[in-house]
This record gives sequence, structure tokens and C-alpha cells, in this order.
Amino acid sequence: MSGIRIAVTGTPGVGKTTFCSTSTINTTTVEKMAKEYNCIGGIEDDGAAPIDLDKLASTMEWPTEGVLLVDGHLSHLLPIDAIILIRCHPTVLRERLSERDYSQSKIDENVECELIGVISAECLDSPCLELDSAIGPEAMIASAERWITDGFKPRRPNEGIDWIDQIHGDD
Ligand code: ADP
Ligand code: MG
Repeated sequence: MSGIRIAVTGTPGVGKTTFCSTSTINTTTVEKMAKEYNCIGGIEDDGAAPIDLDKLASTMEWPTEGVLLVDGHLSHLLPIDAIILIRCHPTVLRERLSERDYSQSKIDENVECELIGVISAECLDSPCLELDSAIGPEAMIASAERWITDGFKPRRPNEGIDWIDQIHGDD
């Protein structure tokens, strides 16, 4: 396989960085690339620095060999070949985000995004593997490696994770 780019995306806190750092596959982050290519703005009121994704997508040079994981909740918006989408049950995500230096509204906003599947709705144009972080990093990596080796098949999950259905399904 040569020059394969795989976005590792998902709501903040789902486990992207843990997944990438446990994997033996080469990894970069959207943030690191944005800094390297001067595509990052100043810190805004909410503590986040805006990234110029269009500029990054058009200026960045990608490796021509091997597989590269791109860690970041915006990575699926870059010109990538495939997407690994990590999901996390909203209740677990809320606990994880409470450990961070996030405002209550930022926690609520991210939990809501995960609940309704905002990022999964943005991952329709590339082969996408959806992984529930509940199975743990090692099992997630084994599943991802199999999927990559199989040429990103199946192209999409048969039934994507729907937290609302899982939480309210019996109502
Ligand atoms: P992200 O990079 O998506 O924001 P992190 O990898 O930083 O998320 O993980 C957020 C928190 O969740 C960390 O405390 C991490 O230890 C924990 N975590 C990540 N992945 C898992 C997992 N698969 N199972 C259990 N805990 C996890
Ligand atoms: Mg991270």
C-alpha cells in the first residue's frame, strides 16, 4: 500500500489520541500539520485556535509511502482515503470530558454532538469504519488493521451506531 491517508475522527474525548498512540501505524495530528503549514489562527474566546482547513488541504504535502493516521476531530474534512470514526457512549463521554478543563457548555455541546452523531453524518463520502471505544484500544486496533488490510471493506457499517436509539429504543 502506498501513501494511504486515514482520518481518525470523532467527538473530542472519544479516544482518538489513545487509539493512535496505541497503534504502531505512523501518526500525525491535524493540529501539528496546521502549525507546520502555518494554517492555524490565534486562540479564540473558547480557548480553541481556528484551523484553515482549505489552506491546509491545498498546501499540505502527504507521504507517498505507507499508511498515515491523521488524529483530529476535523481530520475527515481533509483529502483522505478512508476514515476511522470512533464513537463513545454519551454518558461515558460526559465523564471523560468532565476530567478536562472544559466549560459546562463545551461539555454539553460535545456530548450532544456525539449523541446525535454530528461527525458520522459528515463521513459519508469515504470508506468509513466505525469503532465503539467500549471495546478498548487493543480490540479497536485489531479491527482497524483488519479493515485496512481488507482494502477498507466493508465500505460502511451496516448499521451505524445510534446512541439515541440505544438509549431510548425500548420506550
Ligand atoms: P480524544 O483524542 O478523542 O479527545 P483521548 O484519546 O484523549 O480522546 O481520550 C480521552 C480519555 O478517554 C482519556 O482519559 C483516555 O484514557 C480515555 N480513553 C480513550 N480511549 C479509551 C478506550 N478505548 N477505553 C477506555 N478509555 C479510553
Ligand atoms: Mg486527542
